[in-house]
Amino acid sequence: MDSQFQYSKIVNELENYQVAIDAHSIVAITDTQGVITHVNQKFCDISKYSREELLGSTHKIINSGCHPRSFFKQMWGTIAQGKIWNGEICNRNKQGELYWVDTTIVPFKDRHGMLQQYIAIRTDITQLKQSEDHARYMALHDELTSLPNRRYMQDYMKQVIASNRSNGMYSAMIMLDLDNFKNINDTLGHSVGDSLLKMVATRLLLNTPQPNSIIRLGGDEFLVIVSNLSMQYEEAHDAVLQVANKLKTELNKPYFLNEQSVHTTSSSGVFIFKDFNLSENAFLKYADMALYHAKGNGKNCIAVFDPLIEESIVLKAKLINDLSRALQHDEFELYYQRIVNDSQQIIGYEALIRWQHPEKGLVLPGHFMAEIEKSSMIHEVGQKVLNMACQQLQAWRDIPECAHWTISVNISVGQFRAINFDQEVIQLVHAYGICPSRLRLELTESMFYTDMDSSIAKMHRLIEAGFNFSMDDFGTGYSSLNYLRMLPLRQLKIDRAFVEHISENPRDLAIVKTIIALAAALELNVVAEGVETLEQFQLLKDNGCTAFQGYYFGRPEAL
Ligand code: C2E
Ligand code: CA
Ligand code: CA
Repeated sequence: MDSQFQYSKIVNELENYQVAIDAHSIVAITDTQGVITHVNQKFCDISKYSREELLGSTHKIINSGCHPRSFFKQMWGTIAQGKIWNGEICNRNKQGELYWVDTTIVPFKDRHGMLQQYIAIRTDITQLKQSEDHARYMALHDELTSLPNRRYMQDYMKQVIASNRSNGMYSAMIMLDLDNFKNINDTLGHSVGDSLLKMVATRLLLNTPQPNSIIRLGGDEFLVIVSNLSMQYEEAHDAVLQVANKLKTELNKPYFLNEQSVHTTSSSGVFIFKDFNLSENAFLKYADMALYHAKGNGKNCIAVFDPLIEESIVLKAKLINDLSRALQHDEFELYYQRIVNDSQQIIGYEALIRWQHPEKGLVLPGHFMAEIEKSSMIHEVGQKVLNMACQQLQAWRDIPECAHWTISVNISVGQFRAINFDQEVIQLVHAYGICPSRLRLELTESMFYTDMDSSIAKMHRLIEAGFNFSMDDFGTGYSSLNYLRMLPLRQLKIDRAFVEHISENPRDLAIVKTIIALAAALELNVVAEGVETLEQFQLLKDNGCTAFQGYYFGRPEAL
């Protein structure tokens, strides 16, 4: 009775186990040949086969073809020895869909130690696998455009180089970026910016020949890798330029975003390569240098990397370093070039910056001002120049023959645009106790290509404080009459390029005459720049010019 009770208790417990296992797992029992002898409901549910279809067949019915033969060979090898096997299997259901199961197969032996059957217990891990796949995909792709990302590129480049090595062909990368993306993003909002980037990605995909890979490096920067171009460098060069030009044309077409048409141009840097023993980042560096060069050439253009670009970039970086050191060591000084009236009497000076380089000696602004203007150093350098000019005016203030002289100071675009430029200049002349009308601010037309209204407002504030403005290099830019009409100027400076040939070129003389007449009509005074000969001086004087500057009267000098 007791053992009967024991027995039914065990049977009851086993039944409970089975219910629990069936509730949790996908269960199948096969004989030693793999023929299915039992499946639970979960097996039917996930495989979408009925019990009748499954019983009597083998697991081949749900084989997905995803695993190699060796996978199952190893599995059978284990269980045939009576050992438990565990692994992840991808199966295919009756409707053709794949599903993943974490599988444990337990072999059972009979009383004589012979293998009798296998019980396979599985759990569905499809979702886990999908999220793993997704995470792997996301790690290598950009979320916004779905293009591969920088990390993906590392692997792809290895393949490209291996293929170049085996077929002897050149491949190339084109690094592209949009010239005014920041502007579009700032003015139209980030969601428009995002839509624009997606459209750019689509245009790149549609217009790049195979085999290629298009990668979003970040922001508005994309990388197009085109491989197997040609075995000849020149042919590869022409082929990649053709691609780059096509992409440029496509990217420059208008984009319709938010019911409006948006335009942007693009710049690209091309790097052509074959079998280089370089790390992937070095490739990027060369394409980047070419892109930098393209941007420096005024944007909306394509530059192909060549070693000279690298050299010029290295030199530029050295120069920038050297300049910031020069600023700390106070190596900038001012030379002054006289401006005279028609009797050759000094009426003022133009302040011209010089760099006293510890090794190179005196360096002219043509060699360094452009770099300063491109960097934030322009604010400090500009302030220094104004300070030195004010110091000079202060020294002249108490010398009767010099007290009426003016100093003209060249003002850079970036310097003038600084929000507090006007206040700083006003404070400066106050600090030095000099009359603002002695300081003449020389501007160039390019300052007014954008932000015209706020620039004019700034000029008016300074004029109210007593300053005067001069338009430098007149005749070289657009020389727009509109600017002349709108800008509160006191003076025009005729560019040296027109003065240089007035004696022998009647056209240049005609232009100079016209500028003088125009200035007179607008009640502006005129300074002719670059006067080198008596003949030029005479001609200018005869045609109504009243102020002159040039080597004929004196070179820039330290005072
Ligand atoms: P710029 O304002 O047009 O200055 C006149 C330039 O012409 C000066 O060159 C001057 O030395 C040169 N020059 C004067 N007379 C003659 C002549 O008869 N013949 C020839 N061939 N040249 C003559 P520099 O000093 O090399 O300055 C070049 C440019 O650098 C200036 O052109 C100006 O745009 C810029 N610059 C100079 N100093 C400063 C400064 O302190 N701040 C800023 N922002 N720019 C400056
Ligand atoms: Ca000037
Ligand atoms: Ca000038």
